Amino acid sequence: MIALVDCNSFYATCEQVFRPDLWGKPVVVLSNNDGCVIAANKEAKAISEIPMFEPVFKIKKQLIENKVTFFSSNYTLYGEMSQRVMNILSAFSPQVEIYSIDEAFVDISGMEYVSLNQYGHQMKDTIFQYTGLPVGVGIAPTKVLAKLASKISKKRASENKGVFVIDSEEKRIEALKWATIKTVWGIGSKHAKRLKNIGIFTAYEFTQLPEEWVRKNMTVVGVRIWNELKGIPSIEFRTMPKSKQCISTAKSFGKKLEDLGMIQEACSYYISEVSEVLRNQKSCATYLQVFLHTNYFSDRDKQYSNSVTVTLSIPTSDTFVLISEAKKALNAIYKPGYRFKKVGVSLSGIIPSEYVQGNLFIAPPRWDKKELMNVFDMINSKYGKSTLFSGLVGTRVKEWELTKKDRSPRYTTQWNELLTVKANKY
Ligand SMILES: [Mg+2]
Repeated sequence: MIALVDCNSFYATCEQVFRPDLWGKPVVVLSNNDGCVIAANKEAKAISEIPMFEPVFKIKKQLIENKVTFFSSNYTLYGEMSQRVMNILSAFSPQVEIYSIDEAFVDISGMEYVSLNQYGHQMKDTIFQYTGLPVGVGIAPTKVLAKLASKISKKRASENKGVFVIDSEEKRIEALKWATIKTVWGIGSKHAKRLKNIGIFTAYEFTQLPEEWVRKNMTVVGVRIWNELKGIPSIEFRTMPKSKQCISTAKSFGKKLEDLGMIQEACSYYISEVSEVLRNQKSCATYLQVFLHTNYFSDRDKQYSNSVTVTLSIPTSDTFVLISEAKKALNAIYKPGYRFKKVGVSLSGIIPSEYVQGNLFIAPPRWDKKELMNVFDMINSKYGKSTLFSGLVGTRVKEWELTKKDRSPRYTTQWNELLTVKANKY
């Protein structure tokens, strides 16, 4: 049996955990640069005037009128809260597949001797007790059915209290008849439309189609979903989180920049971030790409964009080497006289650190800088991000960083942003 554990309105509830005054009230989270609404809790979703993915300036009035609290996105907080949830789940099973920031499949085979419903509630309650985050749990014999069960756990939470188990033929049929075809995991909108055109509206009706039809029209991928809905496991369980094959970051500046020095600092800052991710997963990069562009949407500005990819002579995860390569790359593509909106860096050709080959034509470094990078990471993880940073990053981060006017404190990762509680004496 497989459990799918999915956090409810994850970004918005992460914010509420540290703001008990907002419990039961509408909360939304905005995208980078506070452009549009990217997440909303159920109270905010219930207000019909607030459409998702709508630019904020268009709906600001509605947000204020409906007393909606809005936050700039705080990915540091969400990422760390996600890790806590995943750690808790790993205590329930050695096999956890992290599917997304707020979702994981948990292999609970062998647990059939306990009540699965009870086990699901135990997971849900423990996560809530340890993190304050509400989740829905769906339990079923296959991944596609577990996804469906988790949907039901949320949509019909009043009757099942957030846990739904498909452990009998009747319940499977009931779930399939409840699910519209487009809610089935893996069936995209194109296929859903096509199925509707031939009169297939529910997951149940889909399973009644002949296998040949599914194979012919929806390839082997469709057949897997078809089998999974019937309770036959056909999608493998991936326990090892796949190492990232490409690590990149690119953010818009808070304001348009012309000055090469400032753009270099932003670029160096991003390199520090991505190289830390690289070292965390114990790998090195072979290629480094740097790109730079103006604001495509501005008709007042002259437009220019360019990118360059560098092959590193020896794959590396060393922040200083990568910064100096990025700086050279940036100098090659930078053109004065333009107002730039974004610089980005991307590392690829990623290989495990222990497989890095030397280069016959390049002398090995005089001393092992791996130790230096280790100390770097240790200090930054103990005392907070950017406690120690390369001088090339500079200290003008605030001048180019994107606007995050309403970002909540990074409660769980910065000592100086811890939640403070005031107690009154009676
Ligand atoms: Mg979710």
